[in-house]
Amino acid sequence: MSDRVRNIAILGSTGSIGRSTLDVIAASNQQLRVVGLTANSRLAQLCEQARQFQPTWIVAANPDRASAFNWSAKPAHAELLLGSAGIEALVARPEVDIVVAAIVGSAGLSGTWAALEAGKTVALANKETLVMAGPQVMQLAREHGAKILPVDSEHSAVFQALEAGRRRDVKRIILTASGGPFRRHTVAQLAQVSVAEALAHPTWDMGPKITVDSATMMNKALEIIEARWLFDLEPDQIEVVVHPQSIVHSFVEFRDGSVLAQLSPPDMKLPIQYALTYPERWDCPSPKLDLATAMSLDFEPPDLDRFPAIGLGHEVARVGGTAGAVLNAANEAAVAGFLGGQLSFTEIVPACRSVLDNHQFEASPTLEKLIELDNWARQEVTRWVCT
Ligand code: NDP
Repeated sequence: MSDRVRNIAILGSTGSIGRSTLDVIAASNQQLRVVGLTANSRLAQLCEQARQFQPTWIVAANPDRASAFNWSAKPAHAELLLGSAGIEALVARPEVDIVVAAIVGSAGLSGTWAALEAGKTVALANKETLVMAGPQVMQLAREHGAKILPVDSEHSAVFQALEAGRRRDVKRIILTASGGPFRRHTVAQLAQVSVAEALAHPTWDMGPKITVDSATMMNKALEIIEARWLFDLEPDQIEVVVHPQSIVHSFVEFRDGSVLAQLSPPDMKLPIQYALTYPERWDCPSPKLDLATAMSLDFEPPDLDRFPAIGLGHEVARVGGTAGAVLNAANEAAVAGFLGGQLSFTEIVPACRSVLDNHQFEASPTLEKLIELDNWARQEVTRWVCT
């Protein structure tokens, strides 16, 4: 255990990652302390979390929802902040040591940006931030002496395996993918899948957006782009293998041919905790691997024809510039369209491809340009849905 309590602010505490983070903190023997929590729509759950974890600040990200909400259940000691400005104020507080970036989608960018600007350690679950603005975000972290520690299980696995050798000796990384619920579906079957089927992931229990991303394998595309910027790898050093059991969370191959992997049952508490305790390792409340019971670990190459998102991920990682922000926003809008019944499952990736092909590419965009293109790409998907 560490000699000092670490103070944590959780952006998106009511989501799947947010709740798992609270489980880790609850099991930490008071070595981890919650100082700030944020939510968007689940404000009653936010109050409940605040009663249990006693943070100094809570933030309601949407001021309109906040003003319509009855705050009588809010603990008196917790100061209520509002909107993006509230999140940005929270992460910059000197009392905050680590910010867990667990808001879903590009809505997570501004809080992560503010935390890095304040020089904080960011435990990054919100991969969309790096997909949108990887070079800008990494540069910001360097300028402000901030650290980004991966929470995504594949990136946490790579991060851990990288510690076994020198960076210049890394040949490639291999990200594992469960393959999602439709791994064996034909193209005709994929065209028929329902929202309920897409939301039933075989190995991971996650929020709805990333669950649909896993089913289309866009999640792996986003992870290829995330890995490219986070680990400063060339896109052709990043490969994907399908591993349906989700036990091996990724591999690193070194130049001598040694391949290192990190294994554990599929549960986010372990990668979350490692980001919070790094470089220390503590007892963790996640399930443990039982090697005394027979099991098999299968690996197969991904089918790039049935799951074209992976190719899109490599392409966007190669071109960089504005492509990541456009792909990310188009995907968010297309997934929302699918969940809302306006788009079929097999239209999600073609919608992203179409918007990407029709955007005016810039190699070195400003953050303002990326935000402008994020809005534009969402409108384009809406137009695509209506035509
Ligand atoms: P959830 O949908 O479960 O939770 C999302 C969180 O973000 C909620 O707290 C939600 O608040 C909040 N939120 C949503 N929209 C906004 C907004 N506009 N402004 C501020 N807050 C908002 O998502 P997950 O926990 O599954 O995923 C979170 C992030 O972590 C994603 O980027 C995902 O890709 C990544 N990730 C998730 C994994 C997982 O196992 N779940 C694994 C690896 C990465 P509210 O609920 O109050 O509306």
